[in-house]
Amino acid sequence: ARLEELSTTDALTALANRRRFDARLAEEVQRAHRHGTELGLLMVDIDHFKRYNDLLGHPQGDVALQAVAAVLARQARRPGELVARYGGEEFALLLPHAGGPSAATVAERCLNAMTTLALPHGASPTAAHVTLSIGVAMLDAHGREDGAAFVRRADAALYAAKAAGRARSVMDE
Ligand code: GH3
Ligand code: MG
Ligand code: MG
Repeated sequence: ARLEELSTTDALTALANRRRFDARLAEEVQRAHRHGTELGLLMVDIDHFKRYNDLLGHPQGDVALQAVAAVLARQARRPGELVARYGGEEFALLLPHAGGPSAATVAERCLNAMTTLALPHGASPTAAHVTLSIGVAMLDAHGREDGAAFVRRADAALYAAKAAGRARSVMDE
């Protein structure tokens, strides 16, 4: 069990890694379809993170990733909720039993917590501090949507948040 945990934990941030996320996503999608419960998903991406690394160096970028991970981990602590490092400077929050308004609230809490953290970003065209863009999606129960399609929709909402100016969340329709 200890080995299993290690192999599904991200070494830098101590969050669940992509492997644990994929497994939990499949489980939660199946559970939501079986029981007719809601499932929310947030895809989170740090804004202008390449410039952050370019300005301060990769090791300092790693420290920022750890700080963002800690902020996100604090926003999803209900039983069954999962915060994962999806890859690079992208994170995913899986929210079982969360309806649309509650998933949107978690996204706003993440954005507010970053404002409070106020991590200086000297090279961001968006803000003086490190900001996040977030895409929010709710599992389509009627279409019996699978995990991959669900992630694609949250990703599309994330892309829309980037295009609309970053430092915001967008809910998929
Ligand atoms: P955008 O606002 O469009 O998201 O711009 P961006 O610069 O954040 O996006 P881009 O995909 O161009 O760059 C992502 C950067 O994240 C580049 C990569 O070096 C950095 N990154 C990914 N993983 C790590 C990591 O583990 N440590 C550090 N320090 N940087 C990382
Ligand atoms: Mg990215
Ligand atoms: Mg980015």
